[in-house]
Amino acid sequence: MNITGIALAISFLPFFEARNTTANYLVEPPADGAAEVSAERPPLTVHEKCPACDGTGTILLVEEDFGQKGAGGRIGGPRKTKKKCPLCDGRKRLETFMNPTELASQVVHDFERYQSAHLSKGEVPVGNAYVPGDKFEGLSKERRKLVAQSFGKPCKTCNWTGIEACKKCKGRGVVDCPNDDCKGGWAVTKTTTSYQKSRSGGSINGGFRNSYGSSGSRRVSKKETTVNVQVCPDCGGANIVLCPDCGGRRATPCRKCNGTGTGRKGSGLD
Ligand SMILES: [Zn+2]
Ligand SMILES: [Zn+2]
Ligand SMILES: [Zn+2]
Ligand SMILES: [Zn+2]
Repeated sequence: MNITGIALAISFLPFFEARNTTANYLVEPPADGAAEVSAERPPLTVHEKCPACDGTGTILLVEEDFGQKGAGGRIGGPRKTKKKCPLCDGRKRLETFMNPTELASQVVHDFERYQSAHLSKGEVPVGNAYVPGDKFEGLSKERRKLVAQSFGKPCKTCNWTGIEACKKCKGRGVVDCPNDDCKGGWAVTKTTTSYQKSRSGGSINGGFRNSYGSSGSRRVSKKETTVNVQVCPDCGGANIVLCPDCGGRRATPCRKCNGTGTGRKGSGLD
């Protein structure tokens, strides 16, 4: 049972136990026919609710009044568009690494559980491994070192996990839409057109006919600004996009340990 309230689907406890079992083969070799122990890290990939559609697969786009369609603003009520979520492509969930912050505390928590389980059995720590008290005394210093090396030490950067939170998105997996014109999923652009308008009546030249004999009509240069609103082509209306650095995975393999999760050779005894 999980007593601290961390409710993640994975546990590193079997991983620590397997490493400890293997390390203890240097204290006492496994019995013939003993099942092989594999110290695999638990899978760190999860399928998380898509943050853009909150797991529904669709988003509702409500066009606000950006002053589009002339100076009078929008004509008619707000345009509502229901569409397939562009972030998850309607799949409702995103395949990603576990939340790196939650994962980090999970590993610390699981290691504490591993430690207290062995301490309560009266075992003796040898590096990160635990050896039965009655066996410990008989171990040479060299053998203890080998036991500790077999368990190994965690990478200082990623603490056994092999991944580190993506720096670009700070472990969120998504970033704000990169389109500067994007306002809540709508791309709002203004186009200004100049045109010539002839205006008759009135007069220039103070009421005198000009030298060309025109009757006072003139051409006036006018500018008109149109506000164009369309679903943002960059985010498809979601207002967020998958992080370009981690592709939405929240984390990247740890560069310090190349994703192994373990520190450089060492016993952890020093
Ligand atoms: Zn979605
Ligand atoms: Zn690492
Ligand atoms: Zn956008
Ligand atoms: Zn990222």
